[in-house]
Amino acid sequence: MSTPTTHDTASWQAADAAHFLHPFTDFQQLAQKGSRIITKADNLYLTDSEGNRLFDAMSGLWCVNVGYGQQSLIDAAAHQMKELPFYNSFFQTTTPPAVELAQLLAEVTPPQFQHVFYAGSGSEGNDTVVRMVRRYWDLQGQPERQVIISRWNGYHGSTMAGASLGGMKYMHAQGGLPIPGITHIDQPHWLEHGAGMTRDAFGLKAAGWLEQKILEVGPDKVAAFIGEPVQGAGGVIVPPATYWPEIQRICDKYNILLVSDEVICGFGRTGNWFGCETMGTKPDLMTFAKGVTSGYIPLGGVMVGDRVAKALIEQGGEFEHGYTYSGHPVACAVAIANIKLIQSLKLVERVRDETGPYLAAQFAKLNDHPLIGETQTCGLMASMQLVKAKDRGDGHPAMFDSALEVGMLCRGHCFANGLVMRAVGDRMIIAPPLVMTIAQVDELMGLIHKCLDLTLGDVRARGWV
Ligand code: PMP
Repeated sequence: MSTPTTHDTASWQAADAAHFLHPFTDFQQLAQKGSRIITKADNLYLTDSEGNRLFDAMSGLWCVNVGYGQQSLIDAAAHQMKELPFYNSFFQTTTPPAVELAQLLAEVTPPQFQHVFYAGSGSEGNDTVVRMVRRYWDLQGQPERQVIISRWNGYHGSTMAGASLGGMKYMHAQGGLPIPGITHIDQPHWLEHGAGMTRDAFGLKAAGWLEQKILEVGPDKVAAFIGEPVQGAGGVIVPPATYWPEIQRICDKYNILLVSDEVICGFGRTGNWFGCETMGTKPDLMTFAKGVTSGYIPLGGVMVGDRVAKALIEQGGEFEHGYTYSGHPVACAVAIANIKLIQSLKLVERVRDETGPYLAAQFAKLNDHPLIGETQTCGLMASMQLVKAKDRGDGHPAMFDSALEVGMLCRGHCFANGLVMRAVGDRMIIAPPLVMTIAQVDELMGLIHKCLDLTLGDVRARGWV
């Protein structure tokens, strides 16, 4: 297949199908259907190769926190590319952007974090977490502390360690995962596991599963617990308020490291700089990526809390781990511009005080819609569960048969009506850019209502409700 010379949709689709294996994709199915080609974006809006305009309520892939087209990030990249496009940080060298970003990250993260280890992505960050946690316990003279506990339906990336930490069973089924020393507990998802309980009581029960698992594995064998403050890819599942404080208590009780995967929740998404602040935990390690550069260029890493940093620095000797792009100067320069923009636009405060509460109020109203069984919001991330009936008799909604793929039906209406909203099963989710205005929340809600009504029409016509 030759490189297309004309930029029409059909030729891009043909070349795409011939050469590009997309992530998490059924290649044959996509080749038959043809990819959607996104050609431009500005603020919250995407343009595709057919000239359609789409409201991007997913911030690309949970990352474009400052919205598209921000000149200061573009300038930072161009300037750094001219100045020094690359140098490594392996052999006792460093670069100004990597140092300045480390300093800035120490400022915006909670006080226990004074050190950063850079990676290229969230997955690489979580691979770093696994190696660092195990190294820490080696240095403590407790090398038998190897086991990391995470959660079913959590998402921590797609590398061997990231996918193992994650609780997506369909990922484990390909490639012999999880790797040894990783074990899972159930998620704090009230709709799935909390029938007959108040949310708060359920939160304590779900956190108790961690204690049970620790006792089952043996407290002297457990190294760490990792979780997303709000599960993102799993369906924007906001845990009950009682959950995280109880998790913290259990980690403290058994002297287990707490790792907060902030790849989605970091950099303002939840209405604080980091999700752990919203949930009231004090993690030892924090994985970040996505929002650190608003996705303009790849960057990830791990914030290393004092307890672990002290051991690594004072006792550790050489830590045998790192990536070519650890501290990539262009990525770091973009991250600096991004963080400064978040600060100058007061985006965290806006999400916390204005757009977050306004979105929450609008989402609460969706509960009046016949298709909606639950809505949840946290800052500028939100979910709504499409259900067959609001009450199956015990206060819990009745779900659709998953084979009907009602979520995909709804997602189809969204695309056709200029809205990017994601479906996780029958849970519709959004995580719009943090620059979203109140007027844009209204615009978004109008689109959501329209797509829900169209979906309701379909499921009624098909006799599914
Ligand atoms: N952790 C979380 C919580 C994520 O949501 C993701 C990506 N969606 C990752 C890790 C992996 O990040 P990446 O895709 O950059 O490797």
